[in-house]
Amino acid sequence: MKKTKGHPKGLYLLFVTEMWERFSYYGMRALFMLYMVQALLFDKGTASSIYGSYTGLVYLTPLIGGYIADRYWGNRRSIIIGSLTMAMGQFLLFLSACYFREVTIAEYLMFCGLGLLILGNGFFKPNISTMVGRLYADDDPRKDSAFTIFYMGVNVGSTFAPLICGLIGNTGRPEDFKWGFLAACIGMLLGAAIFKIFKNKYICDPEGHAVGVAPTPIRKTEDTDTGKENSINHRRTIQMITGVVLLTLLFSFNKTGECGNWFSDADWIGSIIYATTIIIPLFIITDKSLTHVEKLRIGVIYIIAFFVIFFWAAYEQAGASLTFFADEQTDRHIGNWEMPAAYFQSFNPIMLVTLAPLFAAFWSFLGKKGIEPSSPRKQAIGLFLLSMGYLLIAFGVKGIMPGVKVSMLWLTGLYLIHTMGELCLAPIGLSLVYKLSPLRFSSLLMGVWYLSTSAANKFAGMLSSFYPENGISKTFMGYRIENLYDFFMLFVIMSGTAAVILFLLSGKLQKMMKGVE
Ligand code: GLN
Repeated sequence: MKKTKGHPKGLYLLFVTEMWERFSYYGMRALFMLYMVQALLFDKGTASSIYGSYTGLVYLTPLIGGYIADRYWGNRRSIIIGSLTMAMGQFLLFLSACYFREVTIAEYLMFCGLGLLILGNGFFKPNISTMVGRLYADDDPRKDSAFTIFYMGVNVGSTFAPLICGLIGNTGRPEDFKWGFLAACIGMLLGAAIFKIFKNKYICDPEGHAVGVAPTPIRKTEDTDTGKENSINHRRTIQMITGVVLLTLLFSFNKTGECGNWFSDADWIGSIIYATTIIIPLFIITDKSLTHVEKLRIGVIYIIAFFVIFFWAAYEQAGASLTFFADEQTDRHIGNWEMPAAYFQSFNPIMLVTLAPLFAAFWSFLGKKGIEPSSPRKQAIGLFLLSMGYLLIAFGVKGIMPGVKVSMLWLTGLYLIHTMGELCLAPIGLSLVYKLSPLRFSSLLMGVWYLSTSAANKFAGMLSSFYPENGISKTFMGYRIENLYDFFMLFVIMSGTAAVILFLLSGKLQKMMKGVE
């Protein structure tokens, strides 16, 4: 097998395509809340709940996109259809913002646009991630660093998106939002065009065969792929959907019952997300075409995906409670200039792009010495670092009175530690899912991986509502939150516990990855 030192050119094509897609996604996201509140004059509660549902659903549809790619379309066609659907969604948001004074029309266009963005992301996201792995031979050790480079593409896009779309769309004049949405639309079209033009030349496996064209397995591996098709047929699809509907009804029914709790207090969209998170993985792992070894390896994906929910739920506080904290309790003065609170959102992607090459080099240095941690351990380290970021800020706010502002070094330190955690967890997670998935299920299982982000986004919104306000104490599962210290310690405990359990399980998970019970 031919191994080169650098990476295949196809990786850089996927990097650029993903970069433009994330530019489009995060550019729109930076403006969306402001558009609803400042142009459509929605109240903050309604806007937050629409925002939460959007960010939850956008990571739910990769299941559908993964399913269709694995069975019918293949990755390439799914990526192009997904890109064009998202570009249309952004264009409808542009039109919505053109007619923002006609609220009924603007709302209608906005919801149609959101629907297209949610659907399009489902076709795009799992498929582009899977294609990264397909550029390499099964035993190629460069996969972790390939996914780290790809993840840099995500973050280059997310660094520039709020700056460019924010600059032209968030001017303080509601009639300018449309330009931000148009920039997001153009970014998406650019990504689609670049992918379409260069895909045939560069997206191929080490032997030069085009990848992502046929939905059926295109190559066999030693013990994972036996050339079979997955047997999720129409009958099983109907069973899966029925299962999701029934469980959704059960969760929503509980909501109106006497003994509501944090789980059943979820809204309809939350109920669909949580029901899907439980039902679909169950159906996949009971697929008749799976061998025992494949089931064990898929089991590892599920266990890690479960722990990862706690990572993203705490991490996604960046757009929620940590933004309130930046706004209300952080001294953002640099000399005479007061930095806008929203700028903190760019800290993470900038730090990530800077640190990613160092991490890739660090892993390969440890690899050469034979002491590189296993992938499950890296996930546990990621969770642990997340917990440490919250511990740092918990000490920063210990004993301060409401309204007192603390130095922005605390929040900067938190983002730095969280970024390091993300680098241990997110790209390595993508690589792990790819490596452990039987080829005929690879995009669908990538969808399951993103399902944990969907559940986490919904969970994050709920956790953010425990942000302490005006001395009112709140209780989460018996844990009393009276002040900011208690609030941040909740995340220390949550992610710290998840890190320790995952670390203890990592030996067992490693055995399961090798097909040993
Ligand atoms: N920042 C990542 C992205 O936008 C987060 C993905 C995830 O799984 N939560 O792709």
